[in-house]
Amino acid sequence: MKRRILVLEQHARKLEPDPASRKKARKQVITYTETFLNRVEKEKAFVETAGNGIGLLASPVSEQPMSMSKALRLLHEHVDTPGLNPASGGHLGYIPGGGIYYAALGDYMADIMNRYAGYFYASPGAVRMENMLLKWAASLIGYPATAAGNLSSGGSIANLSAVVTAREAKKIKARDVEKGVIYLTTHAHHCIEKALRIAGLGESVIRHIRVDAQYRMDRVALENQIRKDKKEGLNPWLVVASAGTTDTGSIDPLEEIARVARKYSLWFHIDAAYGGFFVLTKTGKKKLKGLELSDSIVLDPHKGLFLPYGLGLVLVKKKEHLLRAHQFQANYLQDSSPDPEEEHSPADLSAELTKHFRGLRLWLPLKLHGIKPFRACLEEKLLLAEYFYKEIQKAGFETGAEPELSVVTYRYIPRNGKKLAEKDINLFNERLIKEVQKDGRIFISSTLLDNRFMLRFACLSFRTHLHTVDLLLKILKEKVRKLERAL
Ligand SMILES: *Cc1c(COP(=O)(O)O)cnc(C)c1O
Repeated sequence: MKRRILVLEQHARKLEPDPASRKKARKQVITYTETFLNRVEKEKAFVETAGNGIGLLASPVSEQPMSMSKALRLLHEHVDTPGLNPASGGHLGYIPGGGIYYAALGDYMADIMNRYAGYFYASPGAVRMENMLLKWAASLIGYPATAAGNLSSGGSIANLSAVVTAREAKKIKARDVEKGVIYLTTHAHHCIEKALRIAGLGESVIRHIRVDAQYRMDRVALENQIRKDKKEGLNPWLVVASAGTTDTGSIDPLEEIARVARKYSLWFHIDAAYGGFFVLTKTGKKKLKGLELSDSIVLDPHKGLFLPYGLGLVLVKKKEHLLRAHQFQANYLQDSSPDPEEEHSPADLSAELTKHFRGLRLWLPLKLHGIKPFRACLEEKLLLAEYFYKEIQKAGFETGAEPELSVVTYRYIPRNGKKLAEKDINLFNERLIKEVQKDGRIFISSTLLDNRFMLRFACLSFRTHLHTVDLLLKILKEKVRKLERAL
């Protein structure tokens, strides 16, 4: 048996490359990533390839090892080329992502040391780090020291966590679901209704409250609906506001909704996944007044702090609510000593047990840069949106309302001769976006607002600067001329 064990050991030891192999592999990976970074300004934001990555499947996982250089070739051709390039400053669609460098180094170290950040007992330092970051986020939005939170993989999961916390805090049992009423607008991110369904609340009454001309929840309509529902014997218990809708960047009237929520004892949740971190700027802070009045809130560092994908966060004003919804005990965890009062373990505050040590990817860039460049970058984005809003109007486009944050909606109405029907205007703009995507230097997305096909300018990549916006303006003007000629 010992002989067999030793033979297996020889094979198993291959999982630990020696220093020379590590050095070589590391060098290849660094060369690969450096090439990417040095070219990212020039590369397209959107690329369509013939196979759309299908070639990857021609190389299945097998018993045979592959060299790093071959693996990197596969990665380059089939993964890092086709589709959207979220690391590009030219990504001005949806809500752009980020990918700041020091976060990657944080991940690198987190993966090598592999600290167990689920329990304080296992890694007091890692848990303290994550809690410290959450406390920092809580202080930004004006939550008291009694708040607690969790670093999640993204905004959708963070919103799910908040919905479950609200459900438990409001003691909604299975038998209460059908009489329970939840209030939001059609502009809330779809992950909220998804979360409601996952949380067993899909059969609740969901009221889509009317929005005003800027797509913000109408406070009066909300209150009237709550009154009506109560009169009918229903149980209103949750209102969800958006602090920066994904579609238009609109901010629901937070202070007014808070007042209504308090008056009727509703849990007040704010989805600030997109807009939340704008509180770091002076303008943003003013516009986002009222965040602190919520019972729970979601922010997305992989949006507003430019981190690579994989980091959202939820904060709950009273930590006992988050604990009550997520804490659990098991026999095999009996050795873990209790947490100190001020440091709760992520495992007790989330659905996860073993998890990625996500704190490090946020802590390292915040420490190495300090907050100032983040604040500047966010303010730059607000101003770029304002700039684009003015310039695109000068170029003859129709726009939606002045941007509240960094999203502008706009469309072009062709004017050569006859007046076009709405559906033809829509078609023109659909063609326009296809032309821009085909060009690929800048990526934009669209939405449907009151049946109008609108193009969206969504500015949140840390690599988007004035020259990027000027390039988009130039491309749009060019493509409009081309399409108008063909009309
Ligand atoms: C992006 C976004 C979400 C979803 O977050 P993910 O990180 O993509 O899961 C939720 N709400 C808003 C307002 C968003 O912009």
